[in-house]
Amino acid sequence: MTINIILLGPPGAGKGTQAKRLVDERGLVQLSTGDMLRAARSSGTEMGKRVAEVMDRGELVTDEIVIGLIREQLEKGGKGFIFDGFPRTLAQADALGALLAETGNSLDAVIELRVDDEALVGRIVKRAEQSAAAGEPVRRDDTPEVFSDRLREYYKKTAPLIGYYYAKGDLRSVDGMAAMDEVASQIASILDHS
Ligand code: AMP
Repeated sequence: MTINIILLGPPGAGKGTQAKRLVDERGLVQLSTGDMLRAARSSGTEMGKRVAEVMDRGELVTDEIVIGLIREQLEKGGKGFIFDGFPRTLAQADALGALLAETGNSLDAVIELRVDDEALVGRIVKRAEQSAAAGEPVRRDDTPEVFSDRLREYYKKTAPLIGYYYAKGDLRSVDGMAAMDEVASQIASILDHS
């Protein structure tokens, strides 16, 4: 049985961490538009160059670009997808609905990771420190200054998706402040009952 889910929540809520667990445990395919855009940037494609500055300012890149990236991946097919960091605007949400319908897929659940804003800045600083200690590249947008712009973009453009999916009856919420394993088990129980 295939299953398609969206992980929704502000930057630093733990979407990427939970997505990776679902990849390992259930063989789902993680579609992170943030990862795709960073890959485009580091490989120096035209699109990567165009979006780099926007990303560094903590703003959203155009709907057209991210919808194009997702379309390419959906057309390849897969056992089921975890959308991580997509959709981030109402236009993206509508486009995803249409793309899923076109490719014969449906959306099984939208899982909102609820977190406190205060705690998020601390998580981002920690993520940057851990990457640096591990000798991995530190994300340029993981600074407290850019982070507050990313959070503002989230409230302005992405938070309305909570109401959008609630109205469709697709929204499920988990406590994103709980320990990582606890969050994973709350997600697992949603997936096993949807
Ligand atoms: P993320 O790794 O999900 O935090 O994304 C990093 C950055 O990539 C964001 O701050 C945006 O600039 C850009 N980005 C990622 N996903 C999207 C999206 N769905 N729509 C617009 N911009 C995005």
